Amino acid sequence: MGGGRCGVAGVELEPYTQWGRWYVVLVMQTRTCFLDSMATLGLAAYGYGIRYEYGIFNQKIRDGWQVEEADDWLRHGNPWEKARPEYMLPVHFYGRVEHAKSGQKWVDTQVVLALPYDTPVPGYMNNTVNTMRLWSARAPNDFNLRDFNVGDYIQAVLDRNLAENISRVLYPNDNFFEGKELRLKQEYFVVAATLQDIIRRFKASKFGSTESVRTIFDSFPDQVAIQLNDTHPALAIPELMRVFVDIEKLPWTKAWDITKRTFAYTNHTVLPEALERWPVDLVEKLLPRHLQIIYEINQRHLDKVTALFPNDLDRLRRMSLIEEGGVKRINMAHLCIVGSHAVNGVAKIHSDIVKTQVFKDFADLEPEKFQNKTNGITPRRWLLLCNPGLAELIAEKIGEDYVKDLSQLIKLHKFVNDDIFIREVSKVKQENKVKFAQLLEKEYRVKINPSSMFDVHVKRIHEYKRQLMNCLHIITMYNRIKRDPMKPFVPRTVIIGGKAAPGYHMAKMIIKLITAVGHVVNNDPVVGNKLKVIFLENYRVSLAEKVIPATDLSEQISTAGTEASGTGNMKFMLNGALTIGTMDGANVEMAEEAGEENLFIFGMRIQEVAELDKKGYNAQEYYDKLPELKQAIDQIKSGFFSPMQPDLFNEVTNMLFHHDRFKVFADYEAYVKCQDKVSQLYMNAKEWTKLVIRNIAASGKFSSDRTIKEYAREIWNVEPSDTKIPPPNEPRDKIDLTSL
Ligand SMILES: *Cc1c(COP(=O)(O)O)cnc(C)c1O
Repeated sequence: MGGGRCGVAGVELEPYTQWGRWYVVLVMQTRTCFLDSMATLGLAAYGYGIRYEYGIFNQKIRDGWQVEEADDWLRHGNPWEKARPEYMLPVHFYGRVEHAKSGQKWVDTQVVLALPYDTPVPGYMNNTVNTMRLWSARAPNDFNLRDFNVGDYIQAVLDRNLAENISRVLYPNDNFFEGKELRLKQEYFVVAATLQDIIRRFKASKFGSTESVRTIFDSFPDQVAIQLNDTHPALAIPELMRVFVDIEKLPWTKAWDITKRTFAYTNHTVLPEALERWPVDLVEKLLPRHLQIIYEINQRHLDKVTALFPNDLDRLRRMSLIEEGGVKRINMAHLCIVGSHAVNGVAKIHSDIVKTQVFKDFADLEPEKFQNKTNGITPRRWLLLCNPGLAELIAEKIGEDYVKDLSQLIKLHKFVNDDIFIREVSKVKQENKVKFAQLLEKEYRVKINPSSMFDVHVKRIHEYKRQLMNCLHIITMYNRIKRDPMKPFVPRTVIIGGKAAPGYHMAKMIIKLITAVGHVVNNDPVVGNKLKVIFLENYRVSLAEKVIPATDLSEQISTAGTEASGTGNMKFMLNGALTIGTMDGANVEMAEEAGEENLFIFGMRIQEVAELDKKGYNAQEYYDKLPELKQAIDQIKSGFFSPMQPDLFNEVTNMLFHHDRFKVFADYEAYVKCQDKVSQLYMNAKEWTKLVIRNIAASGKFSSDRTIKEYAREIWNVEPSDTKIPPPNEPRDKIDLTSL
């Protein structure tokens, strides 16, 4: 452990760590908020992932359509990272299993090297720096020269790209599983390199070096916790078993006990199309030994199920790690649950669904495994950095300690009726809106009215997030203005943004529909300044930091039971936006914290969605019953928004009528009525701002510091340290380090 140093821009930083125990968080697409909180809480944690050469694509909007551009983020170099070739590790693929007397041997493999790049993760004002370690794929120098292509040196050098493609590009899917071989290679690559790194570090520590060979791994789960962020690193479970059984020669039962005590699994979605189910044939080709181990894990698991539930063949089928049928597949969530000592969802409602519906059979078997860890966001990025005006104003009222203890925001409650504070909060919001309007004008040459309500819906474009319902509301507002142009209207700027997965046709059609509606609305002289529709191009963290502090109304309108938690919802609440939302994900707990009367909650609850499913959802009913809905749909269908191509959106309206899994029409009426209440309140700036203050005061729960403390105490079995670590320029012998 002591060896690691982070050299940054020529400066050597001493990595202070909590001595005695260290932790590991395994990630593939890093949750930066958690890294920030772990460092700030003084937890010695490592974030692991892949150093993709190309990150999530850049989105361009051309003629209203999404066009993808490669994100060549390393083109100008990256000053924050340091390559660590001294810690490079081999990762094996393909080959075959040899049955030797001493055990199973995985042989004739192809090797790819994993080169780590370290990025420091500083805690907030605590003299602590953790490490994020990302792996880059490198071909060995003898790649394809030793075994193949002998005599074709040029071709062998060109073929090095094949190996290095593993870390070339991030798959841009959101909540969708696509069983591509290169993706499976990525998943094994990060897992194999990371576990070797952890085991090397463990063996170099006093725990792994002083004890006898037979028992050195007994203390492994006391020193290491590995949190599986979704199922993407699920292969870590059979990989650790392979290392223990095949290489370290531990007996299976002992290896399994250590493995289970090491891993914990966080589920992130219950959408069936998002659950990873890898074809057995593909795993067998790429990782033949791992497939054997998975079969052995499954056999023992099913024996256990049989012992508890004899003669229940259907239960065995449901709980198997292997799904039979057309193509045999491995259910990676089942593997994670069986191989972990803790399983958690990311909001109360989601953890309930995980426990009582999606993985109910597993909860029947081991109910104590299942937990909840409601998500959170870091107040350092999502308040101090992005909204210094509001952060400063809060500090003037309650001091600065809230930055590290966000629950202190509750102290703002005292000022809900303080006219001066109300005016100051409202002024900061207005300044943020003006600044954002200036940015839009400068960067995108669109003019918006900063005194209109900023109604913002930014997140990945997905049917379950129901950007289409927002679009129907826009059309409804437009039709109302056109019907009675003299009637008072609370001016709105509707801002929608987000990337569609490049292969998700319906999501791309949704973007085109929004931009087409925007074109009509924004160019209609009757509408004038009352309503504007902006599609925010290339929504990403740096743009979120700008738009969220400027938002009045936050759209969180997923069908109840589909959004695991959401974190955007929390960012808006902390930055003084009011939420219009369904009782889904963390919205439920936001309403619980602030009081339901301080949010705009509408629509079907989860039980009502289930009842409607049972009865059978019939979209036509709502269309026939609701004239404003009918008018909006008829306009889309007749080409009102696409006069050059009147049938352009037929597949969208067909979906809404005949196979809308997310029941947009069923919530439309409640949504529009709730939006009317939003407009009503917005006319009263003072009452609006009182709700804003109540929301900010109630947002303390949604700090990722709280989330990480819960993971630490209830899953990793560690107490976050509040020991004051001295600055590196102070002599260390002056400090009592025995308590660290
Ligand atoms: C927070 C964030 C998200 C997640 O938003 P949800 O509303 O929770 O889906 C997505 N993209 C960016 C850029 C974010 O900052």
